[in-house]
Amino acid sequence: KKLGWAIVGLGKFATEQLIPAFKDCKYSELVALVSGSPDKAKRIAAEYNLDASNIYDYQNYDSIKDNPAVDVIYIVLPNSLHAEFTVRGAQAGKHIMCEKPMATSVEDCQKMIEACRQAGKKLMIGYRAQYETYNLKCIELIREGKIGDLKLITSDHGRPLKPDQPEDKWRTNKKLAGGGSLMDIGIYSLQACRYLTGEEPVEISAMMSNTPNDPRFNEVEENITFSLRFPGGVLANCSSSYSFFEIKRFQAFGSEGNITLDPATDYNEHQLTLKTDAGTEEIKLEGNNHFAAEIDHFSECILENKTPKTPGEEGLQDVKLMMAIYEAAATGKPVKV
Ligand code: NAD
Repeated sequence: KKLGWAIVGLGKFATEQLIPAFKDCKYSELVALVSGSPDKAKRIAAEYNLDASNIYDYQNYDSIKDNPAVDVIYIVLPNSLHAEFTVRGAQAGKHIMCEKPMATSVEDCQKMIEACRQAGKKLMIGYRAQYETYNLKCIELIREGKIGDLKLITSDHGRPLKPDQPEDKWRTNKKLAGGGSLMDIGIYSLQACRYLTGEEPVEISAMMSNTPNDPRFNEVEENITFSLRFPGGVLANCSSSYSFFEIKRFQAFGSEGNITLDPATDYNEHQLTLKTDAGTEEIKLEGNNHFAAEIDHFSECILENKTPKTPGEEGLQDVKLMMAIYEAAATGKPVKV
């Protein structure tokens, strides 16, 4: 059986990556759209053969509760709108998948978890890297001790922010984005540190900087570096920027080897190198459509009544840690978490 999915927000990521991924899904089918642009919604509905009566706008969204074809709602809106649309979706009796970052405050994350709990519906955060073959292989290499004892992780995510593009305009607005490069892409570095160690950091220090007089960064941060200490002794050094030439990488240093995944969090491309005493090996894997994999994972969890691998609590933890990173950067003092 395929579950019916509705996508809320037909922006760049939804239209270019998520909607096309349904063709590779076994347990999930796109059946409905929620959009503020009726023309765009009609065009996409026609392109994907969706019933025109399954198009909603942000006002009549709640009436999706009367549509039995929709089992799951996927929220792909600007960050600060995730909370409202998750809560309304859960109250409409649907399971919710929500894009990262889960929300722009800890309180909003808690409200989202509580709304889904009260409605008896599942909540998953779209952490696609945790469903992607190369990232999973890196976790496996570390767990199997292929690089000895893990000591340090470095991870960097950057790209130039271009507010003349609609998808970057709201990213300059603190109210909509919640923050700058950290909330948007630094979160991938933070996630990588957490899934590569399998631990939660206990101490955080950070620094932030903006290019003076660059109007893109009146409200949100441009560059941020943060360091994490994990209970098992692993350290991590991470950065994110809205000005770097595109980078999305991590490296894990062990006592007997190291691994580099660069790019690590690209939509399509991954390059994995393992260095040990045995030499340097480029590991080639059959890549997967990780958008389809995460969507199907959630459908399977619903069908089998299991907790998803990246539930709301996982999104909440990242938002808590990002708030601690901002606090450490603002105060110049390490924060214990
Ligand atoms: P986008 O601007 O292209 O899409 C956002 C959509 O929300 C647009 O269709 C826009 O019209 C709509 N919208 C509704 N209310 C709005 C408002 N008040 N202001 C602005 N837009 C409004 O952005 P995007 O890059 O597609 O990002 C959407 C979400 O997806 C974000 O939370 C982002 O973090 C996430 N995302 C995740 C990944 C990933 O790899 N997992 C990649 C890109 C984006």
